[in-house]
Amino acid sequence: MADIPSECNIKVLCRFRPLNQAEILRGDLFLPKFTGDDTVVVGGKSYVFDRVFPTNTTQEQVYNTCAKQIVKDVLGGYNGTIFAYGQTSSGKTHTMEGKLHDPHQMGIIPRIAEDIFNHIFAMDENLEFHIKVSYFEIYMDKIRDLLDVTKTNLSVHEDKNRVPYVKGCTERFVSSPDEVMDVIDEGKSNRHVAVTNMNEHSSRSHSIFLINIKQEHVETEQKLCGKLYLVDLAGSEKVSKTGAAGAVLDEAKNINKSLSALGNVISALAEGTKTHVPYRDSKMTRILQDSLGGNCRTTMFICCSPSSYNDAETKSTLMFGQRAKTIRNTASINLELTAEQWKRKYEKEKEKNKTLKDTIQKLEAELNRWRNVSSSIPAGEDVPETERTEPEIVTRFESVEERPILDNDTSSIVVRISEEERQKYEEEIRKLYKQLDDKDDEINLQCQLVEKLKQQMLDQDELLASSRGDGDKVQAELGRLQVESDCAKAEVKEVLQALEELAINYDQKSQEVEEKGLQNQLLADQLAQKMASLMELEAELSRMQEVSGQQRKRIADVLNGLMRDLSEFSTIVGNGEIKLPVEISGAIEEEFTVARLYISKIKSEVKSMVKRCRQLENMQLECHRKMEETGRELSSCQLLISQHEAKIRSLTEYMQSVEQKKRQLEESHDSLSEELAKLQDQDNSLLEEKEGEKGETEEGNVKKVPRQQGESHRGLHHKQLARLRDEINEKQRIIDELTDRNSKLELELAQVRADFERLKSQDSTKSERLEELSFLHERHEQTKQDLKGLEETVARELQTLHNLRKLFVQDLTSRVKKSSEMEPDDSGGSCTQKQKISFLENNLDQLTKVHKQIDSFSFLFQFSLPVSSLISVLSLPPSLFLFPSSWFVTMQICVVSFQSWRNVFGLLLRELRPWRLH
Ligand code: ADP
Ligand code: MG
Repeated sequence: MADIPSECNIKVLCRFRPLNQAEILRGDLFLPKFTGDDTVVVGGKSYVFDRVFPTNTTQEQVYNTCAKQIVKDVLGGYNGTIFAYGQTSSGKTHTMEGKLHDPHQMGIIPRIAEDIFNHIFAMDENLEFHIKVSYFEIYMDKIRDLLDVTKTNLSVHEDKNRVPYVKGCTERFVSSPDEVMDVIDEGKSNRHVAVTNMNEHSSRSHSIFLINIKQEHVETEQKLCGKLYLVDLAGSEKVSKTGAAGAVLDEAKNINKSLSALGNVISALAEGTKTHVPYRDSKMTRILQDSLGGNCRTTMFICCSPSSYNDAETKSTLMFGQRAKTIRNTASINLELTAEQWKRKYEKEKEKNKTLKDTIQKLEAELNRWRNVSSSIPAGEDVPETERTEPEIVTRFESVEERPILDNDTSSIVVRISEEERQKYEEEIRKLYKQLDDKDDEINLQCQLVEKLKQQMLDQDELLASSRGDGDKVQAELGRLQVESDCAKAEVKEVLQALEELAINYDQKSQEVEEKGLQNQLLADQLAQKMASLMELEAELSRMQEVSGQQRKRIADVLNGLMRDLSEFSTIVGNGEIKLPVEISGAIEEEFTVARLYISKIKSEVKSMVKRCRQLENMQLECHRKMEETGRELSSCQLLISQHEAKIRSLTEYMQSVEQKKRQLEESHDSLSEELAKLQDQDNSLLEEKEGEKGETEEGNVKKVPRQQGESHRGLHHKQLARLRDEINEKQRIIDELTDRNSKLELELAQVRADFERLKSQDSTKSERLEELSFLHERHEQTKQDLKGLEETVARELQTLHNLRKLFVQDLTSRVKKSSEMEPDDSGGSCTQKQKISFLENNLDQLTKVHKQIDSFSFLFQFSLPVSSLISVLSLPPSLFLFPSSWFVTMQICVVSFQSWRNVFGLLLRELRPWRLH
């Protein structure tokens, strides 16, 4: 495959960074002295490299001086490698990467990415390129893919040309510098994600960026390929320290196995070609096997700090560089031959073989000749080495123990073995390597398994921690819930208290209502009593009315009688047949006494009636007062009731809101407890799993106890809650009942009120009636007064009438005596006269009777006798209609009656005058 191998040393370039801020502040000395382009003097010792870059060298200068050529080589089909070696913070990353997106400060990798494509664009159009990049890091001797974080422990294999490569690492095809930069960015971000302390991590891991370029000539089908490794090594300080101390510290060994292996490989290579090179000691040296002493053009940057503080590290770094400088590589173009080329090569090789075989034959002949001669040469005489024509088959063994047959010369490791043996050994070596690879694979597999298990363990730990955290959270939540539930309890308690208060209030109110009802009842009773008394009064009134009606009837009868008598009287008077009664006086006297008796009786009756009226009035007043009081009480009761109603309403609303709140709290509590239960179940299952794994049964028992306690607590809590809810429901029911009762009572109250109103109206009508009655009574009184006057007048009139009658009687008797003395035989005439006189006397008698009756009943005329009838009966003048008041009418009637009497008597006297004159 290799075409024209060219041997060359590894290029070692030394770069010093400037003193940093901390070093300047500390006052560190600037150690290096730069003499010429390739020499630096540190601590009086000068170190020579291919190139030494002083502190002020720019990134571009560094790139142009060394890295640019490598790009050309790789595009030309060579393998290339650029290392950066040095202690932490010496400028390795600055050199390899720099500031990735800063055109001035960018390091070698971004510049190469750009340069490759620039070259490609300038090359033959018939060339087809396939560029792949990979990015991985080696930490603790494990290869981690930076483009796929799931690949944490990749293994190293050998391809068909026995060149090692990282198996299974992600390869990205790129077609522009930007894509390369994207891949770098992605890798860097992945590297950051995976670790906690990036500085420490980067100082202890190697990052490798691999660019794989394949090109094919479209026409000639000539294929070339080149690999470019860009390696930013881990900080070299541990190695240098271990180197300085001469003993390998365990930590350093663990952390930087690769770096120490690199040191060993370089030492081995630097020592010479004969020693075994321990490439297989670490993955890194394995991958870079070709770069160190193989088919590769390698450049190594030795990065150093100029500070006196880092004196020792710098010196060891410089020594390392010096050693590396001696390594020789044999680079060749990686050319894939076409069939034609292979054929030609075969022919060539065949030719070569032929000539070599000829030579061998010639040499064998010569050898035999010499053997024959040597048998004639005495023993102990050695043949000078330069003269030896005998072909020597020399094999290098990689370890001293493997040297099978040593020559007498122990200092030499060259042994003489037969072809057969050599082949056997090579076969053995191949087998051993195969085994070694297999073992490597196995180890890798086991490592991966271990890694997986570790990852699983970590995951489990994380899960455990998270579930513990969850548990804590749940506990906190539980606490919070408990606090909330306590709050809710307190609230419920408050609500219950409020309810109790309400109930008490309600009881009080209902009691009050009852009292009021009782009072109402009492009032109603009183009212009923009043009503009864009123009824009694009414009955009495009706009785009296009846009585008065009877009296009226009697009056009417009497009057009718009187009228009749009067008419008879008038007819008699008109006819002139008036006869004066003989013994009237005694009868009249009798009649008057009867009339007086009547009057006194009526007086007493009127008095008792007046008294009764007064009593009734007083009672009415009392009733009014009581009613007013009841009304006032009722209105206050109403007010109280409305207040209570409002209060009940507001309390009901409050209760509803509290109920709602409670419901919400209950719901949230339920949901939370469900969640809690779920979480606890999860936690428990996790714990059980863990316990199952660990087989710690005792601890499990210990953990179960608080769980059970928690469960029992929850159960209790639930029970308590349920009880409280039941109680609340019961209270609600009671409240509802009470509200119902309240509404009933209210209804009753309204009814009572309506009754009261009704009674009130009845009372008012009664009082009106009473007023009317009292008015009547007043009139009655008035009439009585008038009657008194009348009585007196009547008495006087009667007296005069009496006197008149006496006179009349005397006159009559004297006349009678005279006539009997003068005309004793005129008996016929005296007989008619006697008849007339007796008639008159009879009439007078009747008149007196009527007069008496009139005297006793005239005061009742006002009640029953219609004025018009009286007028018509008595044929009175129409002027009487002008008197509107009943009093006047009464008076007038009396006057009229007396006038008519007078008229009657006047008539009588006029009738009697001729008699007297006679
Ligand atoms: P390393 O990768 O070796 O640990 P870095 O490359 O990260 O070290 O460099 C450490 C610091 O020194 C960085 O801040 C970097 O910018 C600075 N630095 C390194 N080399 C140079 C240089 N040649 N010129 C200027 N600054 C530098
Ligand atoms: Mg670094």
